[in-house]
Amino acid sequence: MKLNSLIKKIENKYPLNLAYSWDNVGLIVGDFDNDIKKVLVTLEANESIIEEAIENKIDLIVTHHPFIFKKINKINTKDLKGRLIHKLIKNDIALYSMHTNFDIAVDGLNDYFMEIMGFENTKILDVTYSDTLYKIAVYVPISHELIVREALGEAGAGYIGNYSHCTFNTQGIGTFKPEDDTNPFIGTVGEIENVKEVKIETIVPSKLLQKSIDKMLKVHPYEEVAYDVYKLENKGESVGLGRYASLNDKISLQDLCEEIKLKLNMDHIRVVGELYTKIKKVAVVTGAGSDMISLAKSKNCDVIITGDVKYHEAQDALDMDMCIIDCGHFDTEDIFKDVMKRFLDELEDVEVIKSEVNLNPFKII
Ligand SMILES: [Zn+2]
Repeated sequence: MKLNSLIKKIENKYPLNLAYSWDNVGLIVGDFDNDIKKVLVTLEANESIIEEAIENKIDLIVTHHPFIFKKINKINTKDLKGRLIHKLIKNDIALYSMHTNFDIAVDGLNDYFMEIMGFENTKILDVTYSDTLYKIAVYVPISHELIVREALGEAGAGYIGNYSHCTFNTQGIGTFKPEDDTNPFIGTVGEIENVKEVKIETIVPSKLLQKSIDKMLKVHPYEEVAYDVYKLENKGESVGLGRYASLNDKISLQDLCEEIKLKLNMDHIRVVGELYTKIKKVAVVTGAGSDMISLAKSKNCDVIITGDVKYHEAQDALDMDMCIIDCGHFDTEDIFKDVMKRFLDELEDVEVIKSEVNLNPFKII
C-alpha cells in the first residue's frame, strides 16, 4: 500500500486537527509515494527502535510520542536527533506520529484504556471540540418528496442519536413566476404558478453538509431549488481528552489497583488515598494527566487513574478527598502498540509488528 493511502486511512479515523496546537503529529519523516509492506508500532522512537526497524526491514514506524517535538535548526550526524533522522532516510524508513489526536479521538488511547479495564458507558472528561450542526430546509413538489428525503438520508443527514433519516415535513403552497430564459419543471414562462409543495427539514453535521446539499440538488426536479441552511446552537458530536465512568459495583481503591496491575501487567503502582476507600466513579487520563485532577473531582469521580503525578499535586488531591492511581506515564501509554496494531491489522495490506524494545526508562529496585 502506498504511504499516502495508508495515511489517509489513519487520518480518516484519527484526524490531525484533533491534536492540540502545540503538538507535532502526522508524517514526520518519509516519502508519501513509498510502498509500505511492513509497519513497526512503538510508543516512541529512539536509536534502539530504529535499529529494530532496520533489522526487521520495516518501511514505516508509527509512534505515539512525536519523533520531532522541539524545534530543530540543523540535521547533522553529530546531533542525536539529526543522526536518527539520517538513519531513517538512509534506510528508507518513514516515521509517522499520532499523539494528542490519538488521545482525544474515539477509539484512541483513552478509550482503549477504558476498554481494557471493562469500564462501560464512558464520558469525555475534557471536551476539546464539538461538531457544528446545521438544519437544511428544502421545498419540494409533492411528486418528488420521497426521492429528495431519501437522498438526504443516504447522504447522512437526519441522524439523531442512533436514529437515521429523521425529517419533519410540512405541506404548503409554493409560488413562483418563471422569467425569460428559464426552463421550468412546472409552470409557464411569465405566469405566476401555485404548486403544492413539502418543506422537508433535517439536521446535518458540518462535515456532511455539502455532501447532503449536493445529493439533494441532484434528485430535486427544479431548475432553481429553494432551500435554506441554518447554523444551529445545538452541539454535535464531541471529542476530548480523558474519560470517566460509573462502575456497576463499588470497589475498594486497593482492589482497583490490583485489577489495573493485572490488566496492564505491572508489578508496582503508586496510589494516593486510603486503600479501603470505596470507588464508584473513575476518571482516566493516559500519559500525564495530573492537571485534570480537579476536573475529575468536579465530575464526582472518586479516583483518577493517570501518570506523572507530582508530590504537591498528590497533597492537593488528598486535601480535596480525591484518590489517585499513578500507573506511570509509560504503563498507561505503552498499550498504544496494541490498539494501533489492532487498527492497522484491519487494513490487511500491511504486516504490523509491535516493538519488543523496553522503553520504560525507570526501574524499581
Ligand atoms: Zn505520553
